[in-house]
Amino acid sequence: MNMDNMEASARLLAIVQCSQDAIISKKLDGTITTWNSAAERIFGYTAQEAIGDNISIIIPEELLPEEKDIIKKIKRGEIIEHYETIRKRKDGRRISIALTISPIKDENGKTIGASKIARDITGEKESKRNEAMLAAIVDSSDDAIISKTLDGYITSWNFTAEKMFGYPANEAIGKHISIIIPPERIGEEAIIIDNIRNGKKLDHFETVRVAKNGRQINISLTVSPVKNSNGEIIGASKVARDISERAEIERQRQLYTKRLQELNNYKDDFMAMASHELKTPLTIVKSNLQILEHLLATDSNVKFIQLNLKQVDKLTDLVNNLLDISKIQIGKLEINKTVFDLDILMKEIIDNIHQALEGRRIYYKKRDDKLMVFADSSRIEQVIINVLTNAIKYSPGGPDVIVDAFDDDGKIIVSIKDGGIGIPQEDLQNIFTRFYRVRGMASTFSGSGIGLYISSEIVKQHGGEMWVESTIGKGSVFYFTIPAADEA
Ligand code: ADP
Repeated sequence: MNMDNMEASARLLAIVQCSQDAIISKKLDGTITTWNSAAERIFGYTAQEAIGDNISIIIPEELLPEEKDIIKKIKRGEIIEHYETIRKRKDGRRISIALTISPIKDENGKTIGASKIARDITGEKESKRNEAMLAAIVDSSDDAIISKTLDGYITSWNFTAEKMFGYPANEAIGKHISIIIPPERIGEEAIIIDNIRNGKKLDHFETVRVAKNGRQINISLTVSPVKNSNGEIIGASKVARDISERAEIERQRQLYTKRLQELNNYKDDFMAMASHELKTPLTIVKSNLQILEHLLATDSNVKFIQLNLKQVDKLTDLVNNLLDISKIQIGKLEINKTVFDLDILMKEIIDNIHQALEGRRIYYKKRDDKLMVFADSSRIEQVIINVLTNAIKYSPGGPDVIVDAFDDDGKIIVSIKDGGIGIPQEDLQNIFTRFYRVRGMASTFSGSGIGLYISSEIVKQHGGEMWVESTIGKGSVFYFTIPAADEA
């Protein structure tokens, strides 16, 4: 070998050694003859281990027939270029490689071996696979997924975006995002881009966009910044969900609620008007009956008149209650507060009720102290009468009704306890709502489900509370509070 030849092969060796690709040569029987440092790195065998061994050490068993085909081609003098296949490392891990194989010939032109250049394309393959998977996900999404530059030019447009907005991808890409923004909302874009430039994500922003055919679409928008490999924000990705259906359902719901409200108002108006109109004739009937009662003072017919008077009183109570409900509905239940002693009022009420009770007793625990309150005495009287008459009504033949009232740290607590039929647990909350009556045994007593509703509203308007504790078959205790005069 002359000097020139020696120099050339030294240079070649240096190139082979520093190549990033594995460069291997082998004989036609597969015996490895050279193995550069990249081959050591890619396949995990040192040159010492590999040289002299068979090339099959890096070929997975199932791919051994492939090697026979390669050798056949090489023997025919063919070159194999960029052949992608799988090889096996010393540690057993499979790697994807791209091979270029050329025959090595002797001075007579006879093929005596092969040289292989192998490039590890595992990473490349993986990122291609990931890319394909991501693209498939983006395309199968039910949301429109769009990306754009910071100037608003569209850079990608998935299948759902095509369907939602009516522009095919090739028409939308390169256009400005304003093609889908209604003119009156164009200002939103600047705000969105401003957020994106500052690295802020926009989450579930509900807005309206417009399709190619002019149809307005209610969407929920999520916009996130897109960064390049240096971490610089270069654009934005938008995910748009069509919420037109949801928006339509919400619109319908609001419409029905409004309609329901109107109907409810009609009903309340009617109730207010009817009870108001009933009051005048009732008053006239009552005064006429009283005149008749007076005229027939000694006659035995007076009993019938008195029976009728009782019924008129019941009717008057009902009409008054209905009127109260109407007033509560429109927030116009008048409360005229004065300072008075609740203890005195309590005794008066109990005395009056006692006169109408045959045999039943109401026991009121007497206190020495005054119970000064700042309240509407006739409304509080209404509450006490309601609860007391219930206590008597719902405890037929029961023991005494026990009433107590005491000052508890600035508020007066009134309790009315009966030994009656009791109230099921599941009804305890509801009995204070309008027209609610407990089913079963309680419904055999006459009533309208109004009294406790009005009572609790009166108490609420005084800044107090009303509640009940009850045991079926044992009785109930109704409580209410009103602020003491000092506190009020
Ligand atoms: P009404 O007594 O006219 O039906 P209320 O509004 O006064 O209307 O009472 C609502 C319901 O609460 C009654 O229908 C009854 O079922 C129940 N209730 C009220 N007070 C008592 C009580 N002391 N004992 C048992 N049940 C009661």
